[in-house]
Amino acid sequence: MKKGFLVIISAPSGGGKTTICRSLLRRNPELVYSVSATTRPPRKSEKDGADYFFLKESEFKKRITQERFAEWAIVHNNYYGTPRRFVDQNVKQGKVVICDIDVQGGEKIMQVYPEAVKIFIIPPTWEELEKRLRRRATDSEEVILRRLRNARRELKYIKRYKYCIVNDSVLQSVKEIENIIIAEGLTIQRMDRDNDFLREEK
Ligand code: 5GP
Repeated sequence: MKKGFLVIISAPSGGGKTTICRSLLRRNPELVYSVSATTRPPRKSEKDGADYFFLKESEFKKRITQERFAEWAIVHNNYYGTPRRFVDQNVKQGKVVICDIDVQGGEKIMQVYPEAVKIFIIPPTWEELEKRLRRRATDSEEVILRRLRNARRELKYIKRYKYCIVNDSVLQSVKEIENIIIAEGLTIQRMDRDNDFLREEK
């Protein structure tokens, strides 16, 4: 069996990582998505166990003390965390696990899984990022400006990642990530140790 691995996908605010991850998972049903846990209430379209595991704060805190998260953080007054056992079990079974996570969470999870494949998505230009943020008509001017400031801060994390995807088109970005996953699965460190030919090399 080939070795499984974790793929960490991050982007500055408005970089489009969630759209890209959704499309990546739709096109590649063999990939596994790491569903985070959170204490924030579900939005209308969200399903428990698919978008997030929605937990009470007391339950989330209990799981922190039980070390059930590979990483966790408080974002906008709510707890968010990556369940550790799900990632470990799937990687052990040879699966590729996709983790869509912000840069701070990404930094923490890299320490737990140093062999993870790290992908950073950026918009093609600052102008385009601003346009995309403005297209979400619900956000106020203040929120848009804050997100742009956040994006400048988040960009500083790029050096911790190995790959950079320029999100000009969602489909092109998804195809590039598919190629990265194929190449990373073919590295010597992840080769199938039970392969008959390779037995001689042990
Ligand atoms: P939202 O509530 O809008 O879905 O997400 C809010 C923020 O929490 C986003 O920046 C998202 O990337 C982050 N987030 C989602 N899941 C996790 C997680 O498991 N760990 C951490 N550290 N952040 C997360």
